[in-house]
Amino acid sequence: APILAIESSCDDTACAILDADGTVLADTVLSQAGHVPFGGVVPEIAARAHLAALPALVRRTLDDAGMRATDIGAVAASTGPGLIGGLIVGAGLAKGLAVALDRPFVAVNHIEAHALTARLPGLVPGGAAFPYLLLLVSGGHCQCIAVEGVGRYRRLGGTIDDAAGEAFDKVAKMLGLGWPGGPAVEALAREGDPAPWPLPRPLLGRPGCDFSFSGLKTAVAQKLAPFAGDALPRAAAAGIAASFQDAVADIVADRVAHALEMMPQATLLVAAGGVAANGALRARLTALADAHGLPFAAPPLRLCTDNAVMVGWAAIETIRACRALGLPAGQDLDLLPRPRWPLEQMAERFAPLHG
Ligand code: ATP
Ligand code: FE
Repeated sequence: APILAIESSCDDTACAILDADGTVLADTVLSQAGHVPFGGVVPEIAARAHLAALPALVRRTLDDAGMRATDIGAVAASTGPGLIGGLIVGAGLAKGLAVALDRPFVAVNHIEAHALTARLPGLVPGGAAFPYLLLLVSGGHCQCIAVEGVGRYRRLGGTIDDAAGEAFDKVAKMLGLGWPGGPAVEALAREGDPAPWPLPRPLLGRPGCDFSFSGLKTAVAQKLAPFAGDALPRAAAAGIAASFQDAVADIVADRVAHALEMMPQATLLVAAGGVAANGALRARLTALADAHGLPFAAPPLRLCTDNAVMVGWAAIETIRACRALGLPAGQDLDLLPRPRWPLEQMAERFAPLHG
């Protein structure tokens, strides 16, 4: 029976319906516009916007799929990590639906959903078999994760300061571009010459695969300082954007190269998160995977950024994995939304403690 999934962990309100085999029957996403004047996500505004949008969005998603609520066989929602207000709204509505329909409820870890997206049927030619290396690069996350199986994740390294998307957004702001900044920086970088604007590459060549972007961000601010008060010439803005993007691509490629060395058993390199939409970064990662004799896969943009399809798919994978072990699945009504939910804790589902 189909599964209905809800995503509300940040600033995207999303609902999707998937068949039990993962076929997407309906997929809706509303990106909240209310944060634009603030240049970033305001948690209280996000929670209220989810509350205002979600009931009608669920209705519309059912209509898109040509279904009634009673056709739904299970309900899932992102239950963490993320902004607690939005999580409470989405998980609350999903649990209410599950209770009213008397159907299983699956609490989904949002990062796990990003991690498993590549396994959606038809997405990666030949399928994404375990184990693979996941680079998650978004507005809130920047980490390398060894994906060894459903519920089996090892964080190999992550950012010690800003996330990559956060760096793009902050640099965009300094350059006077809008929010979110990633796409604007990428567009401007296309016409820029990076050569006159050399920037540092923090942690490059260091052991491990941690990331750091705050020094890079500060260096961009220093390049811009001489222009304070004057209009920034377009060529300078474009050159700095191009140099910044090159630096990010160099840093990420270097860190991922180390991660691949830490995970010699990887059969595939997967990138997810909004920054994975960046063309320069994708090109670097494709070349890097190639050099390691591995395929590279990045879900299409719509599935890279926050969406509910990935939540539904992660729930399907969870249900399947539980059943394969003879464990009950979809009994998560007691699982409360949580702002932090380390991936390593997902193994607990498959090793339930009795007594
Ligand atoms: P979360 O980490 O919870 O998923 P999020 O909602 O901010 O947080 P996404 O929606 O996955 O994350 O990604 C948004 C981020 O991706 C923003 O920081 C945005 O600037 C960045 N981004 C989007 N497109 C591009 C691009 N073409 N180049 C670089 N960065 C981009
Ligand atoms: Fe996300």
